[in-house]
Amino acid sequence: MELDGKVSLITGGSRGIGRACCIALAEAGSDVAVNYQNSKEAAEQVANELMAMGVKAKAFQADVSQEEDTSIMIEQIMNEFGRVDIVVNNAGITRDRSFMKMTSDQWHSVLLVNLDGPFNITSALLPQMCERKWGRLINITSIVAQMGNFGQSNYAVAKGGLIAFTKTLAREVAAKGVTCNAVAPGFIETDMTAAVSTEALDMVRKMTPMGRLGKPYEVARAVRFLAAPQASFVTGQVININGGLYM
Ligand code: NAP
Repeated sequence: MELDGKVSLITGGSRGIGRACCIALAEAGSDVAVNYQNSKEAAEQVANELMAMGVKAKAFQADVSQEEDTSIMIEQIMNEFGRVDIVVNNAGITRDRSFMKMTSDQWHSVLLVNLDGPFNITSALLPQMCERKWGRLINITSIVAQMGNFGQSNYAVAKGGLIAFTKTLAREVAAKGVTCNAVAPGFIETDMTAAVSTEALDMVRKMTPMGRLGKPYEVARAVRFLAAPQASFVTGQVININGGLYM
């Protein structure tokens, strides 16, 4: 398999897109560290599923927005797996409200998880990838970074920042054998979109040329591609998985 012998860390691997990424990378032969914040049982279930597929897997708790929490988790992962070759910065939250009603807490909590989270994880793991001259950094951004979205100024800023982060790191580490790319999903069927009103989702379906929401595995396939040796000359890119909603 193309990722035999590699170790992946997926943040927010317990549910939704992160869970699908864990499965896709394990299908490609990678061992997987499954990060979660609250859903211990779900994360352990994912790890069990991956082990049944024949790879090594374990669930690790950490709130990625907290630097100390993150570094304790990275130490645990190092003790268990020895290294990390592929990082998927997937953990994310929404706290939607139109800007004029948005509180400082709603603004900062989204930036903390969706932007400081990737900072904490990446700064802990990028040096060892560069040292080994091989690494894959994959950031899950969003269509909202490209289009904007009513009620999501905090989320759009965080995801837009993640695209800028992706392109900048891609330039900084390209010569060190590490690629850095982003995947920008449109609207995907997960717990995150389950919180959106039926009317709003109907409108999204109408506006999407493919007439439907995406499935988590449709995002995970792009992540698997970016992690694989086949993507060795791909860096600094944003791959859109959105059914044509944004072209
Ligand atoms: P989801 O179903 O709500 O799952 C979120 C995941 O993130 C869970 O595993 C959760 O862990 C984890 N998480 C949240 N806060 C965390 C923290 N502070 N530390 C560690 N883990 C944390 O979300 P999703 O729809 O799969 O979204 C995954 C990513 O794709 C997010 O970055 C999201 O912004 C992005 N995205 C989603 C869509 C969409 O339509 N669904 C579209 C574009 C982009 P627990 O289970 O432990 O809570």
